[in-house]
Amino acid sequence: MKRIGAHVSISGGIENAPLNAAAIGARAFALFTKNQRQWQAAPFAAAQVERFRERMALHHFLPQHVLPHDSYLINLGNPDADAWQKSLDAFIDEMGRCQQLGLPLLNFHPGSHLRLISESACLQRIAEGINRALDVTQGVTAVIENTAGQGSNMGYTLEHLAELIHLVQDRSRIGVCIDTCHAFTSGYDLRTAEGYHAFFAQFDRIIGFPFLKGMHLNDSKPDLGSRVDRHESIGKGKLGLEVFRCIVNDPRLDEIPLILETIDESIWPEEIRLLYSLID
Ligand code: MN
Ligand code: MN
Ligand code: ZN
Repeated sequence: MKRIGAHVSISGGIENAPLNAAAIGARAFALFTKNQRQWQAAPFAAAQVERFRERMALHHFLPQHVLPHDSYLINLGNPDADAWQKSLDAFIDEMGRCQQLGLPLLNFHPGSHLRLISESACLQRIAEGINRALDVTQGVTAVIENTAGQGSNMGYTLEHLAELIHLVQDRSRIGVCIDTCHAFTSGYDLRTAEGYHAFFAQFDRIIGFPFLKGMHLNDSKPDLGSRVDRHESIGKGKLGLEVFRCIVNDPRLDEIPLILETIDESIWPEEIRLLYSLID
């Protein structure tokens, strides 16, 4: 089954996320486990975790259909030692929060070199951060997202993601999430069925399908290869509908979270319906 959903709000408490997802007809969802603009957050109360789990069960969401996203403040590639440590501590805290909720995935952007170190040195720092975090946590897979390559962000090629996986010691707890907008604006032309199949053939050769733990379904405002990260509603951007038709009909993407991060959340119910309607 295809697990299509969206990145829903946790306003009023984490336990509201499954309700918000169910209300838009989602069969998967993403969420922040804390305010994404702050470094610190109070740990969850046991009762809150209990309510979250009850509501997950009530609405038939399994933990593997949830793709938590970490804070945008975290940069595991930071060249500055103190800033890197602050990011690592926050990343470990985020992994712990997922562990506490019983959620097996944590999606994150690899990091940025801030034009102070080389790309390969930056990938080394990111991998070192992932290794440290995996060492002190259990049961949570670190899911690296491909990026548009805006600014000095790493992760804009499949080779970057493959290099990170290669540098991680515990291969059983590392995975990737492919964002369609980011792939397109970083230069992968997904607009046609041929482009889609060529991309995933490359993906399978360079990374391997077993590492694919989720996808972000976003159309794109900017053009192919622009390296600008701006999402658009499904079918209204430069990507068009064909790539999404390919995705929902690809059996290799069954049972992984397929998450909308599109710009107009008021039409998420229609976008989810549209995507399901594209299944042959
Ligand atoms: Mn992201
Ligand atoms: Mn994304
Ligand atoms: Zn984005």
